[in-house]
Amino acid sequence: MNHPGENRVPTGSSRRILAFSAAFFILATLCSCDEGERQRADFVIGTVCTVKLVSGGDAGALDAVFSRLREIESEMSANKEGTFVDAINDAAGIKAVPAPADLRFVLAKALRYAEESGGAFDPTVGPLVRLWGIGTEGERVPADGEIAALLPLVGYRDVAVDDAAGTVFLARKGMRIDLGAIAKGYAADEAARILTERRVRSAIIDLGGNIKVLGRKSDGKDWRIGIQDPFNERGTTIATANVKGGTVVTSGVYERFFVADGVHYHHILDTATGKPVRNGLVSVTVVADVSIDADGLSTTLFALGYDRGSALAESMPGVCAMFVDEGKKVRLTPRARGVIVLTDPSFVLVD
Ligand code: FAD
Ligand code: MG
Repeated sequence: MNHPGENRVPTGSSRRILAFSAAFFILATLCSCDEGERQRADFVIGTVCTVKLVSGGDAGALDAVFSRLREIESEMSANKEGTFVDAINDAAGIKAVPAPADLRFVLAKALRYAEESGGAFDPTVGPLVRLWGIGTEGERVPADGEIAALLPLVGYRDVAVDDAAGTVFLARKGMRIDLGAIAKGYAADEAARILTERRVRSAIIDLGGNIKVLGRKSDGKDWRIGIQDPFNERGTTIATANVKGGTVVTSGVYERFFVADGVHYHHILDTATGKPVRNGLVSVTVVADVSIDADGLSTTLFALGYDRGSALAESMPGVCAMFVDEGKKVRLTPRARGVIVLTDPSFVLVD
């Protein structure tokens, strides 16, 4: 079978043009700045972020959320110069670097998921992310020797987060942290915190498909959150998560990828081989209360694969997970049954 997206989008650059055109269209459609503004979309933290106020709040609340998102980007992006993450990476093997409390919090969470997964999830995957360059102009299949040279630099145990001193230190020169797998979730939690402080009673926060809902729907019914079809264009869904509140986050092979010589290379990397994870999965969705956990976990479960991933999800209170494989087979953890409902009959629910 074709890999998700393989025929749909042949090259990285055309994909980017499409993404930016789509982003521009959404922005042009949604961005109004009158006082009665209820919804805003902007391109920040590498994706289109949309916040919709359902009940309560005003344009000032939206201003506050988007300025916080930009602040998080300017602290935690591994893709930009001048961020704290950039400074930490530059000083790897040399010295500890002052880092703000929110960055230390996100990094400590990432290190926890690294522990939980025995390093399948690892925020020090940065050298490999940069080598592959997936989603950037420089994306390419590296030579095995290049990967082998960088693999020893991946090692979450060599990260020291010192809360008393307010610093982060990477023990070996060449190490790099990348918080792309978890910081969007934190950003969604921060958006919800700010809206709550601003007396917003109900809202939908969508950070590039990382969804968090705040409060209850006005009709008292569950929120119905669509889960992306890994094989089809954005906005096509295969299931809904029916929730009273909380967050729904999906990690998938269709998010960032390129195709070379007919092979699909996606952005979630196997820290043992240094290459994209190949375990038959095309997406993992996590439903939870807190978005940093759902984001960290969706990538962790993907990297672990179904057997180990579903066991980890079940061990965590309040976590529901859905695994979709390349044969369109869908597996739900026991807690997810009744919460996630398959809506596309071309996918098959299996035990
Ligand atoms: P997830 O599954 O949540 O995470 C996948 C990402 O995690 C990969 O892209 C990689 O970055 C990392 N990763 C890969 N393998 C592993 C692993 N085994 N363990 C742990 N992590 C792994 N994109 C841009 O193009 N330009 C930007 O300027 C930019 N700035 C950003 C700033 C911030 C603060 C954040 C949070 C993201 C930014 N991004 C940017 C996007 C980022 O680079 C990732 O592509 C994106 O966060 C992936 O999110 P996801 O939900 O699709 O995938
Ligand atoms: Mg993630």
